[in-house]
Amino acid sequence: MENKFERSLVLLKPDAVDRGLIGEIITRFERTGLKLAGLKLVWSDKDTAMQHYTEDLAQRRGQHVRDMMIEMITSGPIVAMAIEGVEAVAVVRKMVGETEPKSAAPGTIRGDYAHLSFKYADENKVGVFNLIHASSSPEEAEVEIAVWFNDFELQNYKPAYTKHTLVEKN
Ligand code: ADP
Repeated sequence: MENKFERSLVLLKPDAVDRGLIGEIITRFERTGLKLAGLKLVWSDKDTAMQHYTEDLAQRRGQHVRDMMIEMITSGPIVAMAIEGVEAVAVVRKMVGETEPKSAAPGTIRGDYAHLSFKYADENKVGVFNLIHASSSPEEAEVEIAVWFNDFELQNYKPAYTKHTLVEKN
């Protein structure tokens, strides 16, 4: 079956796994009609973490942030997901909320399950604990999905509920 929809790469970071929030967060995505194309629990090595948190993060946020995030993302198991749907990248980002939990709106994952500020993270020299990563563009999603998944780990299937959410034109 040909895949016609956009995919986003989502990571539930070690703080989300440690706090027992895997199920709650996945449920939120399922309820919207977004579909899981890939799902696994992994403990990332440093090399994979560096392919995910690239030089781009150092350019945007500073080298110290990239270093802290590589340290954080390799500190425990994480859940990697490829989430599929219509304009999935933007929809998932909307559900995830702003980077800083303090500023993230209620109703978003970061706003509902976290509260820390950049100030607090910087004072304590840690990456800001915001539970989740989501690709910021379709192009970035493609690159990131290839970092975390092999092709054979991504499934093309059609759950029954998609007849209510997706229009199939063959
Ligand atoms: P997002 O994850 O919302 O796309 P970025 O790609 O800019 O945000 O940053 C990647 C991650 O780095 C963030 O999710 C956050 O955990 C961490 N981070 C970003 N900026 C800071 C900062 N100033 N201090 C601590 N951690 C930060």
